[in-house]
Amino acid sequence: MKFIQFRIGDIVQMKKKHPCGSQEWEVLQLGSDMRIKCRGCGHIVLIPRPKFLKGAKKVLNRDVTKDTPLAERSEESTEG
Ligand SMILES: [Zn+2]
Repeated sequence: MKFIQFRIGDIVQMKKKHPCGSQEWEVLQLGSDMRIKCRGCGHIVLIPRPKFLKGAKKVLNRDVTKDTPLAERSEESTEG
């Protein structure tokens, strides 16, 4: 058994897609029930912890990178 630690604000990728098409959920509340919010449509659900742990695929990132482009990065080199 592997242990993944979840924190409030984590973006978690779930195995199952939400009807809106998003697989990414933000952790809002921890406990025996987890409160998570769909990043696609903002829908909030309460899910029992075991079910959440089973359905969680991986933690994508902490909310520090929220809404920041990951692929794009300007590399300006003025040296030379
Ligand atoms: Zn959704």
